[in-house]
Amino acid sequence: MTLVDARNRPLRDLRISVTDRCNFRCTYCMPREHFGPQHPFLPRDELLTYEEMTFVTASLLPLGLEKIRLTGGEPLLRKNITTLIEQLRGLDSSLDIALTTNGALLFDHAASLKKAGLNRVTVSLDALDIDTFHSLADTTNHTPELILKGIEKATSIGLGVKVNTVVKKGLNDAEMLPLAEKFESMGVPLRFIEFMDVGNTNAWHMEDVVSGADIRRLLTHRFGPLTPVQGQQVSEVAKRYKTPTGYEFGFIESVTSPFCGDCTRARLSANGQIYTCLFATKGHDVKSILRMGGSTQDIGDAIASIWTKRNDRYSEERGAREPSDTKVEMSFIGG
Ligand code: SAM
Ligand code: SF4
Ligand code: SF4
Repeated sequence: MTLVDARNRPLRDLRISVTDRCNFRCTYCMPREHFGPQHPFLPRDELLTYEEMTFVTASLLPLGLEKIRLTGGEPLLRKNITTLIEQLRGLDSSLDIALTTNGALLFDHAASLKKAGLNRVTVSLDALDIDTFHSLADTTNHTPELILKGIEKATSIGLGVKVNTVVKKGLNDAEMLPLAEKFESMGVPLRFIEFMDVGNTNAWHMEDVVSGADIRRLLTHRFGPLTPVQGQQVSEVAKRYKTPTGYEFGFIESVTSPFCGDCTRARLSANGQIYTCLFATKGHDVKSILRMGGSTQDIGDAIASIWTKRNDRYSEERGAREPSDTKVEMSFIGG
């Protein structure tokens, strides 16, 4: 059975946030003044276990689920994450399993992630210049070189690798070309993400957004004309463009060119709530059903009932909406 929402969008992707904790404090995601020692991170017994995450995934496979993305917070901080990947892989050999990471622990984990059955990894890297990197991540414990080593390692062992760069005006615009040149030379696809108004703590202003169109103009000067790549899957979040030599840049333009019409993503927070939009203000409790002994049929029915009512299109309505200060945080729901 293919499940569709109120706008006829199927449920194809599940993003699982495995932890709300992180070893970075990126200023656009977890500003330290809000995510300091006083922040109430989830206690251990509120986190879904790996068995519970796998159970929810199993419940959704008959409804058309095709892809899983493990995220957070920083997913590589959760202990024995490879156990979860093994369990998910055990459900279905054709399930596409990806993970998004800040890359600080990737060099050490890449081989075991691959062995456990991970297909792809998306690494977030916003600067090659060390001072800019440290000021964006608001930590000096890691370096861009370490992230690059992780990317090289993941590529060399056959994991699919993409890099994500969030661009915030005045902070890392000067990094766009160095990053583009670096990843073009490595043959690793790079995607630029517009700074989004996700959550309530990152002091988002439209003036801080560098649009995908502006980034393409900059890249054109350096790489030559960019042409749109044909035949992209509708649910792909990044618009891809090719340079004359065939290298592809991606652009995730959630602010200036929203893609809600093709959004097939549900999100499962680390404490077992389903969210139907990145900008949602509330989730739907699934953990209680799990902990009351619900079957995969029960969980599938509960999520199907949530999904059929889904009518979210936040990014398309952004300009017309009153700003809300109760949106869920990105580090909690998973990017
Ligand atoms: N910690 C991991 C990481 O950074 O890759 C996974 C979680 S993080 C929330 C997932 C993605 O969301 C990252 O690529 C990050 O750059 C992006 N992100 C976080 N806050 C954002 C914002 N305000 N606007 C755009 N992208 C954002
Ligand atoms: Fe952590 Fe990722 Fe958010 Fe940065 S973007 S603070 S690495 S969760
Ligand atoms: Fe999907 Fe919500 Fe983002 Fe639109 S705003 S693409 S519905 S997550």
